[in-house]
Amino acid sequence: MRKMAETVYVKELDLSSLGSLSKSYITIRHPRMKKVLRIQATICMAAREYLDSLGFIELLPPIIGPVTDPGIRGAKQVTFNFYGREYKVMSSAILYKQMAMASLGKIYFFSPNIRLEPLDSAKTGRHLVEFVQIDIEQAHASYFDAMEIAEGLLTYVVKKVLKEHEEDLKDLGRELKVPRRPFKKLTHKEAVDILRSHGIEASYEHEIPWEAEKELSYMFEDPFFIYDYPRGARGFYDREDPERPGILRDFDMLYPEGYGEAVSGAEREYKVEKVIERMRATGENPAKYGWYIEMLKYGIPPSAGFGIGVERLTRYICGLKAIWEARPYPKVAGIYSP
Ligand code: ASP
Ligand code: MG
Repeated sequence: MRKMAETVYVKELDLSSLGSLSKSYITIRHPRMKKVLRIQATICMAAREYLDSLGFIELLPPIIGPVTDPGIRGAKQVTFNFYGREYKVMSSAILYKQMAMASLGKIYFFSPNIRLEPLDSAKTGRHLVEFVQIDIEQAHASYFDAMEIAEGLLTYVVKKVLKEHEEDLKDLGRELKVPRRPFKKLTHKEAVDILRSHGIEASYEHEIPWEAEKELSYMFEDPFFIYDYPRGARGFYDREDPERPGILRDFDMLYPEGYGEAVSGAEREYKVEKVIERMRATGENPAKYGWYIEMLKYGIPPSAGFGIGVERLTRYICGLKAIWEARPYPKVAGIYSP
């Protein structure tokens, strides 16, 4: 572990570059951006290669539907009128991952997501409103299996980029190392203990706040997991441990060096009564989830999976200060841009 708040690249976020977002038709031609986009193409290719080698099937992702993921850390969903009925733009494809997994067993999407993040997220360099996540689900897997896949995926992608883009990384000023495996695993409680021992506020009952997560991320030189989040921290679909009520069988992976959240994943609730109970407890109205509840009544297998944001992965690999440098036409909260 390294000392807290050491100054590293990611800390020096330059907000003046926010102004250029309205001119992405120019920034996309910048030599630096071209390198990032070439690396991003390699990242996507390598991720597909890795998942395909494990027998995962890539499916086309949903873009719209009657319901979408409510567990999006304070962001808002986009709702629109679909021939007189309410529809949503996918905030994540979690519900459809379960649908697809029930057919093909091991599946993934490159899933475009929209989340209307709060206005102040524009200044953190961490959030886009429009992004893509590689979204994976496997039938009969545990959350430890899912962590293993996430760890393998990241390591494979980093190795591939190091092999094919040594010069580009040097030009970007990025010293990237192959992560050391196995990645460290902290329970949510252990993570909160570490934060509190450094005088940083975090609760045993809730999600770790963004800024605390960033500080924790500075303390590590390799990616690491936080697992066993408390029930109050997550959406209804992360499975509660039947032997340890109040604890979810879920995880995040965090990048080191202050880059923060990389992955969220979990085992899933899949029994209809339990899902309805969890929906009610998290303030969701089960009546709104028509097709999803019908599907659960029809029956689906247990599963686990995760989502890894492509732009955050690109930001970490390329050592970029801001997330908007990792997307060709970035949309950031409150900024009107192409
Ligand atoms: N749906 C989660 C998210 O978007 C990822 C997952 O649990 O698979 O954060
Ligand atoms: Mg997450």
